[in-house]
Amino acid sequence: FDQRDGDIWMDGEFVPWADAKLHVLSHGLHYASCVFEGERAYEGVIFKSAEHTTRLHASASVLGFKIPFTEAEINAAKEAVLKRQGLTNAYIRAFAWRGSEMMGVSAQHNTIHTAIAAWDWPSYFKPEERLKGIRLDMAEYRRPDPKTAPFKAKAAGLYMICTLSKHAAEAKGYADALMLDYRGQVAEATGANVFFVKDGKIHTPTPDCFLDGITRRTVIGLARDKGLEVIERVIMPEELASFEQCFLTGTAAEVTPVSEVGPYSFQVGEITKTLMEAYDAKVRAGAPVAA
Ligand code: PMP
Repeated sequence: FDQRDGDIWMDGEFVPWADAKLHVLSHGLHYASCVFEGERAYEGVIFKSAEHTTRLHASASVLGFKIPFTEAEINAAKEAVLKRQGLTNAYIRAFAWRGSEMMGVSAQHNTIHTAIAAWDWPSYFKPEERLKGIRLDMAEYRRPDPKTAPFKAKAAGLYMICTLSKHAAEAKGYADALMLDYRGQVAEATGANVFFVKDGKIHTPTPDCFLDGITRRTVIGLARDKGLEVIERVIMPEELASFEQCFLTGTAAEVTPVSEVGPYSFQVGEITKTLMEAYDAKVRAGAPVAA
């Protein structure tokens, strides 16, 4: 992965892909003082680019640092990266981290570094699995209490339990894991939000201790536009037996049907299919019309 062709934007300049390195004593690596965004471009247009950049800056502010580029500069840099890589459909990773000047828990004076990379990444889950619905394990770890970790930041440190949970699920042959929260309520998957369908209505957990994803909000909007009722509420794991459909939403996952969560099975039903199509159309709606 680190030997690909092309360039990565780093601290305001393009650096050849293989040379985009950081010091091993970077605070971002040792103490996870790093924030990031995952975005997708469709037909040359980055979906909700400005919203992602706003979240990147907000995440940095939660971690107590300021990204040394304005939101407008980051938006322009993302466009420049996409163009330079010659990509129209791509995944974009924008991130910022504390550098290596001070090595300890405190890093008040460390330089803030910023980078943007883009690559071709067609599907987060295997396409053939995606259409049949993916299988989820129940995760061992839980989303922490908001008093334990600042959940609104898309910060590297919050992903330790996600990688642990995803690896444990993959080792058992599952695609991903469903995480409960600190109260034992259904929360989200390791990198995507979760929705359920019952009796023609959509149910999704209230995002009070996990990321309220940009895709989540987009899909809720699309569902309501279609006259579908979306209920944000507490969902307990015992309720999973009563749902007919289940799907995940996320920039990488897009709208991905779920066929199983632990012992519970779901169908890839009409509402899920409708929202997959509506999301596909929505993300491409900003694309320039071919002459
Ligand atoms: N939850 C987690 C833990 C995530 O990593 C993501 C992906 N960023 C999401 C939810 C979905 O967020 P979005 O729709 O903004 O990509």
